[in-house]
Amino acid sequence: MSFSNTLFINGEWKPPVRGGSFDTIDPATEVAIAQVAAATREDVDLAVQAARRAFDDGGWPLLSGKQRADYLRRIASLIRDKQQTLAELEVRDNGKPLPEALWDIGDTAYCFDFYADLAEKLDGEREQTVALTDERFSSVARKEPVGVCGAIVPWNFPMLMAAWKVAPALAAGCTVVLKPSEVTPLTALQLAEIAREAELPPGVLNVITGFGPEAGAPLSEHPDVDKLAFTGSVPTGRKIMQTAAADIKNVSLELGGKSAFIVFDDSDIEKAVEWILFGIFWNKGEVCSATSRVLVQRGLYEPLLARLVEEAEKIRIGNGMQADVLLGPLVNAAQYDKVRRAIAQGVEQGATLLSGGARPAGHEKGFFLQPTIFTDMTEESDIWREEIFGPVVCVRAFDNEAEAIASANRSRFGLAAAVMSADLERAERVARRLRAGIIWINCSQPTFTEAPWGGYKQSGIGRELGEWGLNNYLEIKQITRYDSEEPWGWYLK
Ligand code: ADP
Repeated sequence: MSFSNTLFINGEWKPPVRGGSFDTIDPATEVAIAQVAAATREDVDLAVQAARRAFDDGGWPLLSGKQRADYLRRIASLIRDKQQTLAELEVRDNGKPLPEALWDIGDTAYCFDFYADLAEKLDGEREQTVALTDERFSSVARKEPVGVCGAIVPWNFPMLMAAWKVAPALAAGCTVVLKPSEVTPLTALQLAEIAREAELPPGVLNVITGFGPEAGAPLSEHPDVDKLAFTGSVPTGRKIMQTAAADIKNVSLELGGKSAFIVFDDSDIEKAVEWILFGIFWNKGEVCSATSRVLVQRGLYEPLLARLVEEAEKIRIGNGMQADVLLGPLVNAAQYDKVRRAIAQGVEQGATLLSGGARPAGHEKGFFLQPTIFTDMTEESDIWREEIFGPVVCVRAFDNEAEAIASANRSRFGLAAAVMSADLERAERVARRLRAGIIWINCSQPTFTEAPWGGYKQSGIGRELGEWGLNNYLEIKQITRYDSEEPWGWYLK
């Protein structure tokens, strides 16, 4: 890459002030694939200042939605032109299978097109008359961009998570400093290059690579940042919220989950197996909304488990670049160790390891792990309660609807949940009782740019995607006018 070891600040590639760098590793081979600049507080400050100038003096928020939409569509089209290259980069950086990466990049391009449409729509909907009971006054509510946004994103869907923040922020008229995860920084750098090719005005999008404490924390602390949008772990989300409290920054958080999948015994067993597998093994289970707690009604429990194990053991594991691979390596050594520790702890706490749990044969290098299925755990055990963020699913039996709902809701998380039943009335009823932001009926995981995304409880604050995603980046201003010719007559009688 021509822009390796540099940061994208104010429309230019610049070396970091202190000159630091770090390697990014291919998790399938454990070999370094690129060297990336390590930003520190000084670089964050330069990026924020550039974003500040682009917002305050540069005219970006003053463009019409239509003009901003043109830039977003150019970005979308450049992403589509480079879809194969970007997807391959994502595979090498993150480990996910190529078809999944192609899917992510397609969604990334669509996200920019979708918010281009909403930017245009905003032109017609920017101001709304507010009906007042006092006829001496007239009032409008006006949508305006929040300002400079710090976007801090994780490593599981590197480019897509960046797009979920950058696209609506730019559509709204905000300027952005994006910090990708240090684990998967490569496609965010490509996004910066694409923004440059699309001739996005300098400072509107800045991309700084670096570590959480050295680059993420200064961004979340910076007094010139108006809004923070974060996707990642609960502990880091909590830190960001605490930091943001110092100057009451606007914050949106998309955090972890331990999502339940309730399967009633009238379900088709093959469909249930397919969606349970997809709910936990796609993207290696490194998915915040993964349905990692499966609740199966007693009548279906034994036969379903048998089919689940049979199919899980057939999943082809390997380097995501190889055809037909469905399960790539975990993202890095730290995550691999964390998931292996969670598995060991599950066994120690008395759960039955029904399938997987080890490094697959023939994969001595790389962070490969078998699809793992646990049963017989208590509701108090850590594997049932805590997010693992890997290909590990826990299955428990239940007897009736009320018990399943109560068990699913007994979690400090509330990102997603799924319910499967041939009785649609029951499925719809259960969906309305589950305390989570995203509910799937007769499926698990399909995600649509048009629909709201976010969690209840400790899974986050705010909603991304759809019109809700745009609202994250808008302030509402009231403009109220005194229209009467009559003096107000309070002091001056
Ligand atoms: P993980 O530990 O799995 O990488 P995190 O939630 O820590 O998940 O990471 C998500 C993003 O948050 C990454 O871009 C990371 O660099 C960033 N980050 C980590 N620590 C901090 C922090 N203290 N302040 C701001 N950002 C941080």
